[in-house]
Parts: sequence; C-alpha cells; structure tokens
Amino acid sequence: MATRVIPVDPFDLVIFGGTGDLAKRKIIPGLYRRFVAGQMPEDARIIGAARSELDNDGYRDFARKAIEKYVHAKNHDKDKVRDFLKCLSYFRIDALGQDGWKDLAKIIRKDVVQAFYFSVGPRLFGELAKRLHKYKIAGPDSRIVVEKPFGHDLESAKALNAELAEYFDETQIYRIDHYLGKETVQNLMAVRFANILFEPLWNSQYIDHIQITVSETVGVSGRGGYYDKSGAMRDMVQNHLMQLLCLIAMEPPAHFDPDSVRDEKLKVIRALDPVPAEDIVRGQYRAEGDQPSYIEDAENPDSRTESFLAMKVHIANWRWNGTPFYLRTGKRLRARKSEIAVVFKEPPHSIFEPQEGRRCNELIIHLQPNEGMDLRVTIKEPGPGGMRLMDVALDMSFAEALGEDAEDITDAYERLIMDVIRGNQTLFMRGDEVEAAWAWVDPIIQGWIDRGDRPKPYDAGSSGPEDALMLMHREGRRWREITE
Ligand code: NAD
Repeated sequence: MATRVIPVDPFDLVIFGGTGDLAKRKIIPGLYRRFVAGQMPEDARIIGAARSELDNDGYRDFARKAIEKYVHAKNHDKDKVRDFLKCLSYFRIDALGQDGWKDLAKIIRKDVVQAFYFSVGPRLFGELAKRLHKYKIAGPDSRIVVEKPFGHDLESAKALNAELAEYFDETQIYRIDHYLGKETVQNLMAVRFANILFEPLWNSQYIDHIQITVSETVGVSGRGGYYDKSGAMRDMVQNHLMQLLCLIAMEPPAHFDPDSVRDEKLKVIRALDPVPAEDIVRGQYRAEGDQPSYIEDAENPDSRTESFLAMKVHIANWRWNGTPFYLRTGKRLRARKSEIAVVFKEPPHSIFEPQEGRRCNELIIHLQPNEGMDLRVTIKEPGPGGMRLMDVALDMSFAEALGEDAEDITDAYERLIMDVIRGNQTLFMRGDEVEAAWAWVDPIIQGWIDRGDRPKPYDAGSSGPEDALMLMHREGRRWREITE
C-alpha cells in the first residue's frame, strides 16, 4: 500500500535554534523526507536561524550531515539531497538582541505561508514572539511552533500563554507534542470513530481498565541537571501521557476539526479526579555495573525527583465511572516501549471450563518501537482434544500493511510540520488544554512535596519499583510486560 502525498503550499519556514540538537535530529531530516516524498513544493524555503557564525554553505553542510546520520540509508539520494539543500539558507540572529531583525523582515516573503519554529529554550519564546511582531516579520496569517516544555507549572504556563497571546492569536500558535504526530495516535481516532465495532463497548460497562506505558532504557546522563528540576511527572505525564489519555477517553467530537477535537480533550482533563497518595508510586533507578544511579546522573545526592512514575487515575464522568486508567513511565527500564492497552471485561457468563492463564480481550495500541495495533481475542485451540481455548492477536501492524513504505511513518515531526504549513491545528495542544493539565498536575506534585515522599529505588533494566506492581496486584490486575 503506497502512502498518498498531497503537496503543501509554498512556504518560508524559519527555524530559530536551527543549529540545535532538535533541528539536527528531527526537523531537518523530517523536512528532507517530505521533500523526497514530493510534499514540499520546489520554491519552499527553510531558513536556519541561530547565534552561531555560519554562512549558507556552512548550514547546508550541517544539514547534509544531519540527513546522512538521521535519515534511513534507502532515502539517501545525492541528487535529492543537493536539490533539498538548495531550499536551505542561514540567518545569524540573537533572539535577545535587536540587530538583524529588519534584515530578516526583508527576506521573508509575504505572499507565501510563513512559519516560525521556536526550537529554542522556553525563556526565548516570548522574546522571539515580541521581535517577530515588532519588526513586522510575522503577519496575521503567520504561524509559530513552540516546543516542550510548555511551562513548569500552571503559573509559568499561564505566563507563557499570556506572553505569546500579546503578539499572536491562538489560531496561529502550534504547541508541539510529537506523540500526537504518530500514525497510530491518529489511527486510534480512526479506529474509534470510523468503526461501529468499538464505540459501543468503549465505556466502564465493558472496559475493565486501561494501561498507558511509556518506558525508556536510557537514563538522564548528560542532562541530569535539567531533568532533576523536572522529573517524570513534568517531563512525560503532563504532556505525552496526558495527551494519549485524552484521545483514548474523549467523547466523539461532533466534527473532525481542531477545536471540536480539542474541546473534547479538554473535557477529559477537567474531569480528572485528584490522585490520592496511595495511588502514586515514584521511583529512582539504582546503579548497575558501570552505569550510574539516578542520584549520580543528577549529581544531586539529596534528589527527590522521580525517574519513574506509576499512578492510578480516575475520570469522573458517566462514560468512565469505575474504570481506572493506569499510567506508567520511567527511565532505565527493561525495554523502550510506548503502548496503550485497553483491557476488556470477562463475558458476563462463561459456558466453557475455567482455564489457567486465559486473558480477556485486549486492544493494544503500539506507539513505539513499532507502530500498530493488535486485538487479542479468544478462539478454540485448533485440532482434536476437546474444547480448549487460546488467545490470538489480530495483528494490525502498519509495518506489514505498508510494506516498503513503513519507514515513512516512523517520524511524527515531519507530519506535524506539514500540518503547520497546511494550517491544521488538530494535532497541536491548545493553550487551555496545557493549563488544565498543569492545574491537575500541580497539586499532585505539591502533595508529595508536603508529605516529604522519597522515590523508591528500582533496579536498572527492571519494570520499576515493586510498589508499582502492587498498585495493580492489590486489585487483581497486572501490568503488561515491558518487553520489545
Ligand atoms: P540545543 O541547546 O541543542 O539548541 C538550541 C538552539 O538555540 C541552538 O541552535 C542555539 O544556537 C540556539 N540559541 C540559543 N540561544 C539563542 C539566542 N539567544 N538567539 C538565537 N538562537 C539561540 O537545544 P535543542 O535540544 O535543539 O532543543 C530546542 C528546544 O526543543 C528546547 O525547548 C527543548 O526543550 C525542545 N525539545 C528538544 C528535544 C530534543 O530531542 N532535542 C525534544 C523535545 C523538545
């Protein structure tokens, strides 16, 4: 099955922070792949903007190396790379200075889509917005793209929103959460709302519980100082896990347009109950061999920041009354994996003999490492020997469905950047969503600070602290294994 490509309108995209890690690993490689796919018009222009002393050739060299390193070898085509690099140029600018902005204004074309990617630290978001406005570089149709972290708590998120709102309308602001750009996340909406099969069962009457896991094998080495001020709750739950929770739990929107979808997501966040202390488990990884512990990586012997978090969450509305959502995320765990598991209830009456190890129906939505879904159903074990039951997976993995093109669905950034150019905000977080998420998260964090809770140590390469397993076991449930 070939993927369909619809070219976007001509655009000027300025990447502030164009020489940074994100530009190198995600933005430039993603744009190149869209170019190869034929989605970028020939007269599109990408302008890297940062403080480094570089000229256009130097920036093209930076981009070429990024493509060589981060794009799959099958897409390395000398002619295509050369043509793509022609779209690139470099503009030296300091986000905190006043020099150069008038010149930037002259470069930006007024008759094409204008997008400004803020791939810099959040302290520069407001400064950039102010200068784009002051020097009349951005107009009422221009778009700005802002990266995570969007705030550190409700107060800072509100301040950031207010700063951007001074110069840009909400319809111009694209807050990126790359989880929303994943093929499977959108497929989740297709599966839920384009089929009659699932929606009638999508409630607490038929769903026992839902598990969302985002586990990583890496630790925080190299960015321990930054991470220690954040922790799993701020770094992963407030944004990525919360977004997944919203998409899985929201009511069907009346239309598939940005505000209808985001209105429904917002209602989910606002319906989240506060989480009592006994439903939260926080952890810190131990040292293993020559791999340092969290405390060593964070260079803070007294750190109480969590590198692991598991919690049981309730959504207080009609649909979900009585169905718990278990969220789990952590560093230095057994495998790198992101998935959502929807675990259905037992049939109300069984006509078969009870059988050890039999599972209920499960819909598993895999986000990482391979995107896809599988639905676990019970069938009769083939062959003679009586009525024995077994579980099988109806596999909907996209890698198989798309064959050769599977590599083309792996990165979310390129899809999201093209959405910015198209002016489609559906997969971007609205300001009120971000604030509502912080309003739920802040008191939970304050709770463990007030109680003086310390994270529980866990072995590197494990599934997290024992207490996290107990969070489920005590209610007769179990986490899915963290394996690839
Ligand atoms: P980085 O430190 O590698 O790069 C920062 C970029 O900003 C560089 O190009 C630098 O020259 C530029 N810059 C810094 N100060 C500037 C100034 N005063 N004026 C103009 N340019 C300036 O950072 P990064 O990892 O690329 O991250 C960029 C943003 O993206 C951050 O907000 C980060 O939190 C977010 N983010 C990064 C990743 C990632 O994988 N790297 C993932 C998610 C979010």
